[in-house]
Amino acid sequence: MSDWVPLNPNAKSYDVAVIGGGPAGAAAGAFMARAGLRVCVLEQKRFPRQKVCGEFIPAAGWKVLADLDLAARLQRLAGPNLQYVAVYPQWGPELCAALPATAAGLAARAISRDVLDDILLQRAAELGAAIFQPVHVSQVLGEAQTGFEVFVAGWPLPLRARAVVLAHGSPRLGAMNFVSGGSDEAAGRWPAPQSGIGGCVCFKIHLENVHLPDNTIAIGGVEGLYAGLLRTGKSAPAADAGDDTCQNRACYNLAFVVDRKLVRRYGSGVALYGYLRRHNASFGRSLRAARPGGEFLSCGPMEPGVREVYADGRFFVGNAAGEVHALIGEGLTLALCAGQLLGRVMSDHRAAWSAGKDLEIIGAAYRRGWLNQFASRLRSGNAFSQVLMKPLLSAAATAYLYAFPDIFDRCIRWSGKSP
Ligand SMILES: Cc1cc2nc3c(=O)[nH]c(=O)nc-3n(C[C@H](O)[C@H](O)[C@H](O)COP(=O)(O)OP(=O)(O)OC[C@H]3O[C@@H](n4cnc5c(N)ncnc54)[C@H](O)[C@@H]3O)c2cc1C
Repeated sequence: MSDWVPLNPNAKSYDVAVIGGGPAGAAAGAFMARAGLRVCVLEQKRFPRQKVCGEFIPAAGWKVLADLDLAARLQRLAGPNLQYVAVYPQWGPELCAALPATAAGLAARAISRDVLDDILLQRAAELGAAIFQPVHVSQVLGEAQTGFEVFVAGWPLPLRARAVVLAHGSPRLGAMNFVSGGSDEAAGRWPAPQSGIGGCVCFKIHLENVHLPDNTIAIGGVEGLYAGLLRTGKSAPAADAGDDTCQNRACYNLAFVVDRKLVRRYGSGVALYGYLRRHNASFGRSLRAARPGGEFLSCGPMEPGVREVYADGRFFVGNAAGEVHALIGEGLTLALCAGQLLGRVMSDHRAAWSAGKDLEIIGAAYRRGWLNQFASRLRSGNAFSQVLMKPLLSAAATAYLYAFPDIFDRCIRWSGKSP
């Protein structure tokens, strides 16, 4: 598609280099390859691998997977259709609302992250993206005008690319030591998250023998902890998360987000799991006979908020662009939708790209689309999860929603669950 010529003829060159092969990077790679770009995706982990995640994908996310012709394949490996969301507050009555399905009949379902991420990345390869894995990107140098050099640990030469897509998932620089002329990144800073909540640590475990209807996702919390529980799909046989025995039996995912103060007090995922079961009667009932199907995985800190969408030839997708509070169950959908949006923008600006025109036009279109589609969803999701983590607020809110069930249905839609 492009006539762009690499500066260093010995280096491998691409139109776009995608850093990170999680859902955002794999989807961006797949959609851009389908739009005719020469794309590579660089992922540091060998797949399949587990990841801390609630694994819930609402109908809107399945729509994007259907656009990649993956819905049928993934649904065979996913958990059952989820038709209801039940709120389990620490105090007060439980509440239940229907989850919307798409017109095409796609319902919300959960799928194990080892399976999802692996198949998505394979799809990007099928559509023409070059996949490098496992490779660790240590540095990205450049700007829109000159193009980029992507340095991979252990490689003698950097890759060349006209643009880069940052899909490394993290709000922090970490090992991504970008150095590009006097920017925030060069000084080791990162744009501050704009939501004001953060500092939480996240845990996930796969469980068996959980008492919960197959078609229901339960969400709720106790002081300082917010949890989601649902039936998910089976794990890949080669999952590297220890002996995940959920391969052959019904498998449930319990994920929770915990205030750091509470983590210091309880010290481990197991102890926090006990705290949730003791202090939230509804979770206690559901988990009374539950058996672990693997180890507790943890990650953090979580830092929800809108970050960077486009800057000087660098496009951000998924959590690198903005993080929604973990248990709103929107992160994967936002990651997939952002990849789809980027593919569409690249395709719409095919002529500008081929003529080697300023990337700013394409960047501005992507930023506009991203903010329109995602900014309010991120903010409402983050506000909703704040309520759930405060028992008093949560009890008052559920009592109110109990009296006015229509409003609860609307909240479900506002938080991005409508297709
Ligand atoms: C507790 C918890 C529960 C959640 N529950 C849900 C849920 O139920 N539903 C939902 O939709 N979302 C949920 N989320 C959010 C969801 O997990 C994220 O939004 C999603 O993983 C973001 O995808 P991503 O591709 O942006 O990042 P990631 O999934 O983090 O992928 C980034 C990838 O980049 C790779 N990478 C990083 N650095 C480098 C490097 N230097 N070189 C090469 N590769 C690199 C990583 O190995 C990784 O594979 C949850 C999150 C948490 C923490």
